[in-house]
Amino acid sequence: MSDCIFCRIVNGELPAEKLYEDEHVIAFRDINPVAAFHALVIPRKHIATLNDFTAEENALAGHLLRATANLAREQGLADEGYRVVINCNEYGGQVVYHVHAHVLGGQRLTGAHG
Ligand code: IMP
Repeated sequence: MSDCIFCRIVNGELPAEKLYEDEHVIAFRDINPVAAFHALVIPRKHIATLNDFTAEENALAGHLLRATANLAREQGLADEGYRVVINCNEYGGQVVYHVHAHVLGGQRLTGAHG
């Protein structure tokens, strides 16, 4: 989708500080970090929200989740711990409608539920 900012990052039309990429997902630093480490992991494919994963995309959903854990491990966060958040729709606070997992860490995080 040409009007989706994350699709534009996928396509290389917008810059991003990429931390990982493969055939299916990309990880890059959040432009407005709310923790010492804050990255986003997104599928290359445009899927608007967590609600929109289909059964045919089970493998992609699993890959996305595994990629978040691999990223956290590569960034040295795994042992101390980190948080993965997927905001969904308005009440969930979703702003960018291209599904993404926030990976937050590098510090002790307070309040498990925002
Ligand atoms: P949401 O509220 O879960 O949709 O989170 C969207 C996130 O995308 C926010 O944390 C923003 O700071 C982040 N963001 C928006 N535009 C960019 C960008 O161009 N590069 C990196 N992160 C972005």
